[in-house]
Amino acid sequence: GPQGQDDLLAGLNPQQLEAVTYRGPALLIVAGAGSGKTSVLTRRIASLLRSREAWPSQILAITFTNKAAGEMRERVAGLVGDVARGMWISTFHSACVRILRREAEQFGFTKTFTIYDSGDSRALIKRLVKEHEADAYGLTPASVQSRISKLKNELSDAESYARDANMSDPAERIFVELFADYQRQLRKANAFDFDDLIGQTVYLFRAFPQVADTYRRRFRHILVDEYQDTNHAQYALIHELTRPVSASAAPDPYASNGMMIFEPEPAAAPDAPEGGASLTVVGDSDQSIYAFRGADIRNISEFERDFPGAQVVLLEQNYRSTQNILSAANAVIGNNFDRKDKKLWSDKGDGDAIIGFTGYSQHDEAQFVADEVESLHRAGMPYSEMAVFYRTNSQSRALEEIFIRSAVPYKVMGGTKFYDRAEIKDALAYLVAVANPADDMSVRRILNKPRRGIGDVTETAIARFAEEHDISFRDALAHPTQLGFGPKIQAAIAQLDAVLTEATAIMLPASGELPPPTTVAEGLSLLLSKSGYLDALRASRDPQDEARVENLDEFVAVTRDFARNNPEGTIVDFLTEVALVSDADDLEDESGTVSLMTMHTAKGLEYDAVFVTGVEEDLIPHRISAGEPGGPQEERRLFYVGITRARKRLHLSLAMTRAQFGEVTVAMPSRFLQEIPAGLIDWRQSPGDVNSRGGMQSRALNARRSGGFGSSGSGSGDRFGVKALPGRDSLKPLSTAMDRFPNRVTAKVRDNGDLELTAGDRIRHTDFGEGRVDAVTGEGAKRIAHVRFDTSGQKKLLIKVAPIEKI
Ligand code: ATP
Ligand code: MG
Repeated sequence: GPQGQDDLLAGLNPQQLEAVTYRGPALLIVAGAGSGKTSVLTRRIASLLRSREAWPSQILAITFTNKAAGEMRERVAGLVGDVARGMWISTFHSACVRILRREAEQFGFTKTFTIYDSGDSRALIKRLVKEHEADAYGLTPASVQSRISKLKNELSDAESYARDANMSDPAERIFVELFADYQRQLRKANAFDFDDLIGQTVYLFRAFPQVADTYRRRFRHILVDEYQDTNHAQYALIHELTRPVSASAAPDPYASNGMMIFEPEPAAAPDAPEGGASLTVVGDSDQSIYAFRGADIRNISEFERDFPGAQVVLLEQNYRSTQNILSAANAVIGNNFDRKDKKLWSDKGDGDAIIGFTGYSQHDEAQFVADEVESLHRAGMPYSEMAVFYRTNSQSRALEEIFIRSAVPYKVMGGTKFYDRAEIKDALAYLVAVANPADDMSVRRILNKPRRGIGDVTETAIARFAEEHDISFRDALAHPTQLGFGPKIQAAIAQLDAVLTEATAIMLPASGELPPPTTVAEGLSLLLSKSGYLDALRASRDPQDEARVENLDEFVAVTRDFARNNPEGTIVDFLTEVALVSDADDLEDESGTVSLMTMHTAKGLEYDAVFVTGVEEDLIPHRISAGEPGGPQEERRLFYVGITRARKRLHLSLAMTRAQFGEVTVAMPSRFLQEIPAGLIDWRQSPGDVNSRGGMQSRALNARRSGGFGSSGSGSGDRFGVKALPGRDSLKPLSTAMDRFPNRVTAKVRDNGDLELTAGDRIRHTDFGEGRVDAVTGEGAKRIAHVRFDTSGQKKLLIKVAPIEKI
């Protein structure tokens, strides 16, 4: 191999070695879970740097999460020293934000643009649906948002969509209008939504070849992890970046970046800039789990066609898991059709059996998890080496309750949603109003927060004034006297204008020079105090407002941390970081805690012990997948991702009854359990054991086992130590089941006590999101809230047990 790389190449198997040392235009590494794909990518980067074939600034590595990017950066630094600054190791979104911040002015945005997260774009779409009276055509904000997102991932815009659409259909016409209007509003607000970050970068490269050339010249080595989950827009972006530089291109303005880390001159000359960048992608089509977000497996299968002459490397040895865990994974994924069979093997030995457990309820199941965690911990396994997975976020609640009671330290990844809290969104809106005053939505959000006596009528009048004078909503605030309001409202508007102006002066000085970053924290404190926002919360007697003050303190602390970690960071950098926080990225320290997360979030990670919970029909596979083409297969891949995270211990658990959506349902074991060879699972408490205690649910379980699906499972009931009982018809209505286990099932169900709700209240439901209470009927424990959810339609909820909170 190349000189001075022995330590880099040590311990690699021959295929891995080839993947690290291959030099050529295109390399595809396809392999199953835990075979070292990410490790190989990391070493490949280190190898290119060590041999000085590439400067740090010539490397662009794409990971699926910011967290994975951070880890890769650290590993590379561990191998070749701190070259971190010049390298771009980031997610697609972060890389595009960096490009757009530099280039936005090329096409009519400013570098302080706002990034709309999905909640922000939902709010905008909601307003537009109302204005266009689109609900009359069956268009809901949720459906419009997901259609627009899908189209953007396909690089389609309103205009090109309209060309193929059946425009004589009024619903289609309205949709096209909405789409176009949405895009207009984003542009007017100097904002990009999440999908635009990628799509508009592709557009930028196509419309301005000299801009694209800048980046083509710069990035000579592009490496993409988790390639199976790229969508078309991301694929196109990679294509644009790997094209050869056009002849007329100007010299590379970044040429000096990053190379000073070694010597002034690289020992080996980097690739001549005339050719396209070298591209390395790694992926596993069995782990493609984002088709619902437009990920396209064909990006892998057609790689060889798109990049002729590409080298393909297959990795087959798994270095992560014991053979028992791998055998289970291989058996499960083998049930998907349409895939290339690849057999993973491990030389770690069989290891422990997979442990199975069936609880009566999700609390019972959670107790099993907590007990196992404690016993593993007593045996010497650190908490940070254990993880608990579930299919949906709402499942974390029962686990958390028991973990708290059992004093097991844990953290929920992506579940806490600090930035979704109303007070944090308000604080962010204040910051955006300063950083990007064109963003009307943020300014409108804070117009009457805290209460200033400004109502809808006033807001509409200001909006109209802004439109008539072709200025932003923010600028309209500077003309309170011209708006013709009474003196009280005028004074309130003038006060808000003054606070924003003052904060702007310290955070974005007029000279264009960026101020020292401490001003993000100072500016935020100023905004929160001078606007009266904090005072209003402090004056309130609502205990929730006290918690809000604490959250805002925490948020100010976040801005201080940011300043410490980013000595040159500006308010725009801060807002970018916040906008790009994803489910896998947590602000909290993870040492010494068990990690709880969804199986989607678990991708790419590994732990000594893994608990996959809720292994039930309707959860995994999730019931929404049933009607989707390819849905059940994608669920199987998701389950495969879950179980292949485990190094030594894998636990699969389920509950017979599950309280969710405010009701108790009887659960069935997942079909995926049946796909695992019986001898691999050691059932601590099986549906069979449960059956011996009698009860309707277990009969239902047996019915399931006895051939509710797939005829291949003959005799499978025996696996759980039970005889097959009558067919599925024995499944009785829920009330019967409840009568049998009156206490066991209901006693532990969530209890909201006497949560006060009245028509007009806003609530948040763990599954349905936010909504408005239309009416409350019934009495005592049987009170029912009739709720109109913003995105999930109308529901009736039993207040006592529904997972809701007032907001
Ligand atoms: P996934 O598909 O889950 O993303 P992956 O293919 O990216 O997995 P890695 O995470 O890179 O796999 O590697 C899995 C584990 O195996 C890691 O702990 C890694 O350090 C280890 N590993 C990889 N290659 C080797 C090797 N040649 N010798 C020893 N350990 C290795
Ligand atoms: Mg990986």
